[in-house]
Amino acid sequence: MNGCVLIVGTGCGGVETAFAMRANGWQGPIVLIGEEKEIPYHRPPLSKAYLAGDVSPESLYLKSPALFEKQGIVLRLGVKALSINREDRLLALSSGESIKYDYVVLATGGQPRQISFDDGLPYPTNILQLRDKLSSERIANQISNKSRLAIIGGGYIGLEVAATARKFGCEVTLIEAANRVLERVTAPVVSEFYQNRHSSEGVNLLLGTTVRRFIRDGSGQIVRSIECDNGMSVDVDAIVVGIGLIPSIELAAESGLDCGNGILVNEELRTSDPRIFAIGDCVNFPSSVYGGRRVRIESVPNALEHARKVSAVICSKVPRPDAAPWFWSDQYNLSLKMVGLSTGYDSVVVRGEISASNFSVLYLLEGRVIAVDTVNRASDFIAAKKMVGSSRVYSVAELQDESFSLKELAESTGS
Ligand SMILES: Cc1cc2nc3c(=O)[nH]c(=O)nc-3n(C[C@H](O)[C@H](O)[C@H](O)COP(=O)(O)OP(=O)(O)OC[C@H]3O[C@@H](n4cnc5c(N)ncnc54)[C@H](O)[C@@H]3O)c2cc1C
Repeated sequence: MNGCVLIVGTGCGGVETAFAMRANGWQGPIVLIGEEKEIPYHRPPLSKAYLAGDVSPESLYLKSPALFEKQGIVLRLGVKALSINREDRLLALSSGESIKYDYVVLATGGQPRQISFDDGLPYPTNILQLRDKLSSERIANQISNKSRLAIIGGGYIGLEVAATARKFGCEVTLIEAANRVLERVTAPVVSEFYQNRHSSEGVNLLLGTTVRRFIRDGSGQIVRSIECDNGMSVDVDAIVVGIGLIPSIELAAESGLDCGNGILVNEELRTSDPRIFAIGDCVNFPSSVYGGRRVRIESVPNALEHARKVSAVICSKVPRPDAAPWFWSDQYNLSLKMVGLSTGYDSVVVRGEISASNFSVLYLLEGRVIAVDTVNRASDFIAAKKMVGSSRVYSVAELQDESFSLKELAESTGS
């Protein structure tokens, strides 16, 4: 409990690891190394309350600067970890130093997937992506100027930006290549609900549509219009691209650690080097909740779970059993909370009133509940967390029977 632990990445995963290490009794040096210069902050508000200007920059802090100091956690901000010399156990930093370690935890997150241009011109200045505080401020600036926005990608981030932009009266066109929004993560019934709501709020939804061409202005620096594959043309002041995340694996890969879609780790979140662990968005791990299936999950609760697990493992404590992954998204007055991974479901049960924006969707595989989406139904969400991952088999009729609450069904043992 006295060696030196270096944590690369100052997102929620890295920061939680540092504090959980101290809570588990680690007495040696803990150094958090982050490329970003900002005091570590929460990312979810960047597409929600912070984007709308409803909360202050200080409210984003994950922990106050004083708390890092009190816990003896050294923050090295604005410094990039460049390489790991695994033989001598040295981590090289962009500041020129090399630090000797006993353990390294990689919490390097990911980078937004970019649109690529092969016209030889500079990347347009009005194509924006949302990952960090500065990018959120740039988009907020466009929104408060009531810009004409095109959003490429109908995932959570695209939809949340669309909702905020409409609140400010922007003209918003959302372009999605799939035939429905949130296609990768929800059933058609949920996509349809969100499409209807965005349309009724005035978002121009172009589904099953791709971009054929970005047309620049005379300076070549700015995209003025988007030509779609269906021949439609959309005039824009700015474009927000939300087409997924590429895990940041360069440091791990260049250090010779096994990588696939993410940094490959075992059940303990250990990489192919026993002294190096990896957690959060950048990690491809076997999920015990899904029978050991390898997954990569991009969510705050997942990064926090990983952080607590890795700190327990390094401190030789018994980690808590894995919980089902969960996620949330806020759009307009809709609170979507989802638990579990719905991939591979064979049937769906809807409970509640879709027309009243108050419903839950249960995803079943051979009678087991593998995932649940809840819209404005907090009590269902708590019950759903119990159901997902349990081995209880339900019939569709049983789950459709609304004379029993989801809580009662979650607690029932079946016949
Ligand atoms: C706009 C937005 C909204 C979101 N909303 C939600 C939500 O509502 N609910 C939810 O659950 N999740 C949400 N997410 C996802 C969530 O923020 C991520 O899942 C979470 O931040 C992952 O934490 P992490 O610690 O793994 O990585 P990150 O938070 O990405 O942190 C990684 C850090 O590592 C740094 N880094 C990378 N490489 C190096 C290096 N070589 N040297 C030094 N530093 C390095 C990066 O600069 C970054 O600061 C949202 C994300 C965004 C961008």
